[in-house]
Amino acid sequence: MDDILKTLPSGSPDAAVKMFLDKIVEVNPKVQTGLIKDAFLFAWHAHKDQFRKSGEPFLAHPVATAFILAEQKLDAITIAAGLLHDVLEDTSTTKEELSELFGEEVALLVDGVTKIRALQMRNRQERQAETYRKMLLSMAKDLRVIIIKFADRIHNLRTLKYLEPERIRAIAEETLDIYAPLAHRLGMAKIKLDLEDLAFKHLHPQEYKDIAAKVAEYHFDRETAIDNFASPLRATLEEDKITAVIAGRPKHFYSIYRKMVQRNKPFEEIFDLLAIRIIVNSIRDCYHVLGQIHSMWTPIQDRFKDYISTPKSNGYQSLHTTIFGEHNKIIEMQIRTWEMNEIAEDGVAAHWLYKSSDQVRSFSKEDKTLSWLRNLIEWQKDLTDSAEFYEFFKIDLFHAEIFVFTPRGDLIPLPSGATVLDFAFAVHTQLGLHCTGAKIDSKIEPINATLKNGQTIEVLHSDSKTPSIEWLKDAKTPKARGAIRRWLKNAEKQESVDLGKKIIQTSYKRLHANSSFNEHVPEVLKFLGLSSIERLYELAGTGELPVSRVMQYFHASKIKKKMSSNMVSRLVGTFTGRTQGILVGSSNDNLMVRFAKCCNPIPGDPIIGFVTKGRGISVHRCDCRTSEIFDTDGERKIEVSWDQGEQKKFYVSLELTGTDRPGMLFEISHVLCDSGANVTDAMIKVTNQQARGAFQIEIHDRNQLKQILRRIQKIKGIENVARVKDYITYPGDNTA
Ligand code: MN
Repeated sequence: MDDILKTLPSGSPDAAVKMFLDKIVEVNPKVQTGLIKDAFLFAWHAHKDQFRKSGEPFLAHPVATAFILAEQKLDAITIAAGLLHDVLEDTSTTKEELSELFGEEVALLVDGVTKIRALQMRNRQERQAETYRKMLLSMAKDLRVIIIKFADRIHNLRTLKYLEPERIRAIAEETLDIYAPLAHRLGMAKIKLDLEDLAFKHLHPQEYKDIAAKVAEYHFDRETAIDNFASPLRATLEEDKITAVIAGRPKHFYSIYRKMVQRNKPFEEIFDLLAIRIIVNSIRDCYHVLGQIHSMWTPIQDRFKDYISTPKSNGYQSLHTTIFGEHNKIIEMQIRTWEMNEIAEDGVAAHWLYKSSDQVRSFSKEDKTLSWLRNLIEWQKDLTDSAEFYEFFKIDLFHAEIFVFTPRGDLIPLPSGATVLDFAFAVHTQLGLHCTGAKIDSKIEPINATLKNGQTIEVLHSDSKTPSIEWLKDAKTPKARGAIRRWLKNAEKQESVDLGKKIIQTSYKRLHANSSFNEHVPEVLKFLGLSSIERLYELAGTGELPVSRVMQYFHASKIKKKMSSNMVSRLVGTFTGRTQGILVGSSNDNLMVRFAKCCNPIPGDPIIGFVTKGRGISVHRCDCRTSEIFDTDGERKIEVSWDQGEQKKFYVSLELTGTDRPGMLFEISHVLCDSGANVTDAMIKVTNQQARGAFQIEIHDRNQLKQILRRIQKIKGIENVARVKDYITYPGDNTA
């Protein structure tokens, strides 16, 4: 392979493509080369002027990626897509062009491994999370997307040393955080181990070197120990006429390192643990071998696992058992068929090889082996927040699995460490939201009880129980955590809505006691540019929208009203006096209203309002002379009317004439008092038996005045009594 890469791109493309195709056919004899050839030439031209950090032509990278795919015996479409995998990201080629030239499948695969454009994202983390999401969705359409991504990553890891140390670290960490667990989840053990060891080498170079040296040093001892164990087993199986391959499992550097760290043990103790794999021809043979092993050595209780009858969610099948061997050495054993072995090593890629392409391309609903991926795709729909998606993706990739049962015997796979709460949400979201605990194998346990393999769980629930923030500590699965988060967000939102509603309604009432805020909702929303009243309340409740801003609408709308109804509004905002028994237009808003001194209107009088400069609206009787003056100035005239609901007192001046007689003043006073009028000023002047009087009284309305006038008229000696506009004072007169 290296020799081809050396010819790039200085030599002729024709020579290079021929060399490349020869290599491909060498490792993958059945593959059709037509499409691969075209893809090679296209990539050649597209990347012609690009170079990697190492100084080598960029083309070396897609070519090496395609070769890794060819080694895995993948089809021509996948290998072509491997050659083209960076043209969308790094050249001006479009997806449409790819589709036209190489078909939709190739275009979809290449697009699936293309990062989301940085411009569309707020930050690096969001871009990364959304790129994973995109990759996941592309995988759902065609699993080959992720197989190409792995090949891409493997080649990148092999050639990482020219990058900045921080980039190297970031790529290695991402490999261990995302790609290796993802390969594991997809059952691609070989790829997973490759990714891990490559990343480990970059992340912890010294530890890598140490372990590599020790593995070499102890290699012989280990082989001998395995052989010592294998020989008697081989002999027994030969007698039973069972063909079996018994081999030690190669230990991978990263898994040794991880165990050393996790168990806090030295290399020797970890490496000492022997692991053996026995591969046979049939499932029947698997169980037969198991029986023989258990009769020859002592199995360790609780370490036996039957993943043949209950496969892992990535499709993995095997029998696992651990025994005490010679000198009490502990030996882990896996027993499986050849097909199981292929699936264990290559996972979905093995499915790809076994089945016709249409069956695997998008895994079917019935395909239990990929239930994990199906769930992941299902759950990610709810995770609209990138950070949340990233967290969930990472957490979900890591966990080992346990299997528990519903009371009806349905099997529920959960990550290890899952709690009652996780189980409840796995069964049904509503069950989760109201979960109070569970009966685990008939024993009552709280919601945070950790579940163990094989338990039967009956969820206890109550309608009145709802999630709290604490639940996020107790739930481990993304499904449960997502559902709890959504519920809390919703509850929090509802609280904000309720609070905001209270604040706004109260503030409004303070300004406008007599009308309801609800009447103004559509205009207020328009004014603030919001789509719903819920949203308005929510923003007010969280404090994002100050209430004063909402109330501004009412000031603004009044100013508008002023423009349309003459000059009334000029007063608005300046005067906040209470209403005075006068309705301006049809509302009794807080406009300042004064009763004109020139005509002292009383309720019932026909009245008209005039806008005065700086003194509010002055209310005149329609028959007032002043009103005639204003009549010519239509701009300042405003319709006003008496507010029937308001009880207020008005001043009226009366004049009367008559023939004086003793007791007349008393009688007049009596009538006024009796009618409920309050006399504030009075005087009588008598000249030659002729009496003239003037009274100022406080009354409620025009009716009361009418009665008073009628009754005074009836008093003996009174000739005339009338209401006058102005209270007449007589200079030098005495007050009676
Ligand atoms: Mn690449």
